[in-house]
Amino acid sequence: MAQIEKFVYRFDEGGKEMVDLLGGKGAGLAEMTKIGLNVPPGFTITTKACIAFLKHGGFPEGMMDQVMQALHDLENKVGRVFGDEKNPLLVSVRSGAPVSMPGMMDTVLNVGLNDSTVEGLAFMTDNRRFAMDAYRRLIQMFGEIVYGLPHEEFREKIEEVKRMRGYDEDRFTVQDLQGLIDQYTVIYRKHGKIFPQDPETQLVESIKSVFNSWNSKRAVAYRKMNGIPDDMGTAVSIVAMVFGNMGDDSATGVAFTRDPNTGEKKVFAEYLTNAQGEDVVAGIRTPKYIDDMQNEMPQVYADLMKTCDILEHHYRDMQDIEFTVERGKLYLLQTRTGKRSAKAAIRIAIDMVDEGIISEEEALMRITPATFDRTMHPQVKTTGREIPLGKGLAASPGAASGMIVFSSERALEIGKSKKMILVRPETTADDVRGMAVCEGFLTQKGGMTSHAAVVARAMGKPAVVGVESMSVNANEKTLTIGGKKLREGDVVTIDGTSGYFYEGELPVEKPTVDDYSKRLLEIADKYRRLGVRANANTPEEAKIARENGAEGIGLARTERMFLGNDRIGIMRSMIMSETPEDRKKYLDQLLPMQIHDFVEFFRTMEGYPVIIRLLDPPLHEFLPNKEDIIRQIYDVNNGKGKIEDLPYLEKLLKTVRDLEEFNPMLGFRGCRVGLVYPEIYDMQVRAIIEAAAKVIEEGREIYPEIMIPLVGHHNELRKIRARLEETAKSVRNHEKVKYKFGTMIEIPRACVTADKIAQYADFFSFGTNDLTQMTFGYSRDDAEGKFMFFYLENGILESDPFSSVDRDGVGELMKMAVERGKRAKPDLEVGICGEQGGDPDTIEFCDEIGLDYVSASPHRIPVARLAAARSSI
Ligand code: ADP
Ligand code: MG
Ligand code: MG
Repeated sequence: MAQIEKFVYRFDEGGKEMVDLLGGKGAGLAEMTKIGLNVPPGFTITTKACIAFLKHGGFPEGMMDQVMQALHDLENKVGRVFGDEKNPLLVSVRSGAPVSMPGMMDTVLNVGLNDSTVEGLAFMTDNRRFAMDAYRRLIQMFGEIVYGLPHEEFREKIEEVKRMRGYDEDRFTVQDLQGLIDQYTVIYRKHGKIFPQDPETQLVESIKSVFNSWNSKRAVAYRKMNGIPDDMGTAVSIVAMVFGNMGDDSATGVAFTRDPNTGEKKVFAEYLTNAQGEDVVAGIRTPKYIDDMQNEMPQVYADLMKTCDILEHHYRDMQDIEFTVERGKLYLLQTRTGKRSAKAAIRIAIDMVDEGIISEEEALMRITPATFDRTMHPQVKTTGREIPLGKGLAASPGAASGMIVFSSERALEIGKSKKMILVRPETTADDVRGMAVCEGFLTQKGGMTSHAAVVARAMGKPAVVGVESMSVNANEKTLTIGGKKLREGDVVTIDGTSGYFYEGELPVEKPTVDDYSKRLLEIADKYRRLGVRANANTPEEAKIARENGAEGIGLARTERMFLGNDRIGIMRSMIMSETPEDRKKYLDQLLPMQIHDFVEFFRTMEGYPVIIRLLDPPLHEFLPNKEDIIRQIYDVNNGKGKIEDLPYLEKLLKTVRDLEEFNPMLGFRGCRVGLVYPEIYDMQVRAIIEAAAKVIEEGREIYPEIMIPLVGHHNELRKIRARLEETAKSVRNHEKVKYKFGTMIEIPRACVTADKIAQYADFFSFGTNDLTQMTFGYSRDDAEGKFMFFYLENGILESDPFSSVDRDGVGELMKMAVERGKRAKPDLEVGICGEQGGDPDTIEFCDEIGLDYVSASPHRIPVARLAAARSSI
């Protein structure tokens, strides 16, 4: 005879490792039984039985026999009999999948009651009111769940009684309850149904319904949204009923072993006396809190405290539990790892290290960079009483308030003077300019990879997208949701971290690195191998970077040093110069300004390396827009403006025309300019060395590193280095300055010929923005707004390579460059300074391929420190 599969496990046969088979709830009940906590006895039907049932439309062979056997064992254990008129056993039939799907599937309580067992229950407990209450609950739940009868119809009957009797909550007399049961029977009849009196039929039908609830519409939708596979199935746990509705010494409730909001080590509980099951969640009465319990039921309180402590030590994490108190005795009905806010997650991890519950490494592994990141963005400060207007996908973290506008043109018209939230059915490439002047975005359509979502994340602004319940009418300039209509100018607050949005301006909390976050980062620093530096363009940014724990500057761009009001004119004259002597004349005027900038930088970064990149962008970026010059010339010619400006304007126009390029990003920029007009780099290097010498004379230790952009051929670097070393030597006191000389690696050819380039470089720094542009052949500025979202939405790309380094392509080139570079020069220092340097996945990759450090924007430094530590564990 073929062996029949085991489909049923008593609680004392299972354990927490059997989640796949018994579901989270079943495994938790078994585990709590095993460690001696007070769980009502019961058993679990496996997920495999569910899968077989859904596939074949009937219970698998042998399952029901096993259920009846286990039920029999249960009767013996409890000392009651299922269906017995004098001493009836009641059970709950509970769903429970391997992954938590809160509220998605069904549970039936009080199974086993009928017109005669209810009498037995009343007699046995000497509490008729309670027995009737349990019975009317069964009839209602069974009707709703097994027959799909409308909840509202039952609720209406309840409200009717309350109205008639003048009750303000669900507290009924025996008479009321009898009346309700009669009314419920009417509802059944109206829908052509009859409540089954046979307990075994109730059990079988309840099991079937729970199995079927795996495929209910809302459960399927929930799985789809959360990426949960459809083939896991749900287990069913059958649990002997305990009663929280037996009087004022009975209760039902939920508890978190620590505060899920703040993480404080204090049990957080909500409970209702004389209530059952879902009453707490359903909000039928206002619940009581843990401090009330301490006064009201001190013994239960003590037991609950002890239980929480046992569970936390056993599971080594904060737990979310469901319990019932029956006549002063505490029963546990569920435990699972508790959801918590990002802030709480950090605090709990650190406290648990201090309490000796988990190790430092575990604490680091428990806080994902995404969780940590959430604490670094502005957050909507809610009291919990605000009612959101609606909810969509939390597409880009952070929070913002502002008046709503319905088009990008309108946003541009209003400009930066007002805080605005752009509301659109969805956004397209045409919206990008308007998006740039808004604080955040709210869209009706689209998913996590929609245009609005991708652009929001790239801009670092909050977005809530795909609010299907909202309708946006851009022509009428209205937004309608839940019967409310908002117009242009109305203020909303969006929370891109939770996906909620609210009417009006809610307080937005600035992010802070609290003491717990600081502790976590200190621990991270102990474990990480990778260095963490910052991309900082101003001494102010450098200061923030230091405060956030950066160990130096990985990239200081120098172009903004040419932009100030006092400088741009000189810069333009320099660019318009026709001879090297002329150029030098203007550069000499810029020299003291640059020295001043570098001195500030070096002082801020005392004791740490500072990589300064020489001029990189195309020169025309420093010149005015062509149309503007033409208009000015036109004005002068028509009597407006000064005639003596004309020669200058005409020369400017000629220069702009000469410098015009088809592909500026692949044109005359970076070291190409440095080679053709060597005087520019001469001036910058002189400024660096003079500034360094000055700061060293102040008694400070500094480590300048000079970086050449856009090298693709070793001859470029050879030639530049030779000249600049001579330049450095010409500076007074230069021998006091120990500097490094290196290059960006941002052209694919540089990766392939890294061994040759390394001969002339003390360090490499991957410029992964340009390297990604050139490896993919995508213009970054065009890709983000125009086609990237399409590529992501349609699965052509799995992730945006400008956010996270593309391991297969760009990553392989980087690997090659590291290998070849270090082969030629073993002590070559290698880092990354592209935008991706702050992305956790990229950081892990950089660790893998042996980089020395990552460099990220100042506000990403904390996340980078954490990610670097996690990748080395
Ligand atoms: P959900 O997954 O929706 O939380 P549960 O199966 O956990 O559904 O049941 C909901 C609630 O019903 C429980 O929190 C508990 O209060 C009550 N309940 C379930 N089984 C029993 C039981 N055997 N005795 C008393 N109450 C029960
Ligand atoms: Mg539950
Ligand atoms: Mg570059």
